[in-house]
Amino acid sequence: MSQTVLLTGISGFIAKHVALALLRDGYTVKGTVRRLDRAEEVRLALAPHLDAPMMERLTFVQADLTSDAGWDAAMQGVEILVHTASPFPLDQPKDEEALIRPAVDGTLRALRAAHAGGIKRAVLTSSSVAIISPERSGTFDESSWADASLPTTSAYAKSKILAEQAAWAFARESGIHLTTINPGLVLGAPLDGTFGASVSLVQRVLKGRDPMLPMIDFPVVDVVDVARMHLRAVQDPSTEGQRFAAVAGSMSMVRMGQILKAAYPTRRIPTKTAPAILLRVLALFDSALAAILPSLNKTHTVINTHAVTKMGMSFTPPEEALKITANWLVTKGYVWA
Ligand code: NAP
Repeated sequence: MSQTVLLTGISGFIAKHVALALLRDGYTVKGTVRRLDRAEEVRLALAPHLDAPMMERLTFVQADLTSDAGWDAAMQGVEILVHTASPFPLDQPKDEEALIRPAVDGTLRALRAAHAGGIKRAVLTSSSVAIISPERSGTFDESSWADASLPTTSAYAKSKILAEQAAWAFARESGIHLTTINPGLVLGAPLDGTFGASVSLVQRVLKGRDPMLPMIDFPVVDVVDVARMHLRAVQDPSTEGQRFAAVAGSMSMVRMGQILKAAYPTRRIPTKTAPAILLRVLALFDSALAAILPSLNKTHTVINTHAVTKMGMSFTPPEEALKITANWLVTKGYVWA
């Protein structure tokens, strides 16, 4: 009989791809949404890629990270929890607790309800921001932890570091078997127009909103590869107790601009490096910019050997993932012609 996975935040950019991978592989998927009226939107996004019997294995439940309501009921009949839901805004909030509380408390809420419901296995979507120390150049792997206590750590990074740490602590005390997937900047083709902050970053560059780009680099990965890693973690109990960096390679924002400009030469796409002094001034008014300032002029390499050797992953190269994203945005009309 098909195993049932509770997939939190199924309306998200990554989670819709995870749902696709799970349903195609024969799992039954119960997706959480904050409001049940979002269920139809998710169905419409997935339906063109699945056959009718696969769609019949998809159901929805209502649960919010900030409330206890619905979580215990959501776990009924579930064998594995895949927890992807977490706030991921492009702009940083004035009060960092607005990000940290739903991330940390929501992760614990989902894990506690899973444990209470007798669920033994959980897969958590963490992030490379819980691995990389942005304030120094270097090479990082799953043994590395970012420091949430540094004043330069962004609210989003804190939310992910603290949520993952809380998850590991709960796993130790409860005995629930946890695997984390730690993606870099996730690019690739969205399944619908609700595509979240990472694709919005490419949209911003394509729209030529900024005259120059900051010299920062991102670990990049395609969303299909991220979904595949979630599937592998669900399929393979021997991944338990481990973190897996989901990263194909690094790419600077300036390189991103140059690749996009080469692909769309008639568009006004920035390719030049913004001076650091200018960025520091602009960051006073732009919270998204302020959040990336610690990474300025640093290079970060995240090693993906663990995913390659243990999960058998091969990754879409970053340049290819970027072009797929841009092609989708242009073709679907999400950037001005
Ligand atoms: P997304 O499209 O913004 O999806 C976020 C999901 O979390 C949505 O389903 C959202 O629900 C849900 N959510 C947010 N606040 C919630 C709350 N209070 N209660 C219940 N659900 C809530 O972002 P994404 O890019 O797919 O990210 C998914 C996960 O991957 C997140 O944990 C994120 O931190 C992690 N991640 C993303 C990237 C990336 O580059 N995209 C990289 C590393 C890690 P609504 O639709 O109702 O808002």
